[in-house]
Amino acid sequence: ARKFFVGGNWKMNGNTALIKSLVAETLNTAKLDETVEVVIAPPAVYLEKTRATANKNIGVAAQNVYYKKSGAYTGEISPEILKDVNVDWVILGHSERREYFKESNEFVGEKTAFALENGLKVIPCVGEKLEHREAGKTMDIIFAQLKAIADNVKDWTNIVIAYEPVWAIGTGKVATPQQAQEVHEQIRKWLADNVSAEVAENTRIIYGGSVNASNAGELSKEKDIDGFLVGGASLKPDFVNIINARL
Ligand code: 13P
Repeated sequence: ARKFFVGGNWKMNGNTALIKSLVAETLNTAKLDETVEVVIAPPAVYLEKTRATANKNIGVAAQNVYYKKSGAYTGEISPEILKDVNVDWVILGHSERREYFKESNEFVGEKTAFALENGLKVIPCVGEKLEHREAGKTMDIIFAQLKAIADNVKDWTNIVIAYEPVWAIGTGKVATPQQAQEVHEQIRKWLADNVSAEVAENTRIIYGGSVNASNAGELSKEKDIDGFLVGGASLKPDFVNIINARL
């Protein structure tokens, strides 16, 4: 069975005060559903403090990583550096990085493989824009993003795929459970057809885009939705209610 997964992507938000109020005083003290794997992703400079603050059962993720071991890559961070500060996870290919920093499918695929090979667990993100959905190209876009990952990755054990429709991110327009389920099911089928039946069965596919404590329960009932990647609502105490949405 796939363990339900809830990630909190802080994006370019948060500060030391939030680590105290949200991590130390809220997440660490709340009663969290033990069947859920929880991972929080603060900005890079806060990774170390977040790791030192959060309970051991809470994972910590970076929001990006580069695909070299070390060297003259000003502004970048390597998997080795993340592991040095006990960070186990990284989010890669978020739509904001694809859009604002021009990350291509191939770049995301190569970074995903490098991060995995160097001991990180990876949350690669896929998802269509509204114009793609309206043109009936949703799955073409997502399959191309998946293919670039599958072309590079050998071992899928440490991957959690995030499906984040761009039109649902930060807009308050959450995908309906049916819309999300339909895409998740097709992603799983793609994995079965293009990677293996085992990878399709075991890989968690999580949904992201305007998830909150009011819609998480319904979404979580869909058979191919294995969790969430939460943005805005992960900065608030309500994040606890998203983690506990299945209780
Ligand atoms: P929101 O939950 O703010 O819509 O963001 C979703 C997201 O992009 C998580 O990575």
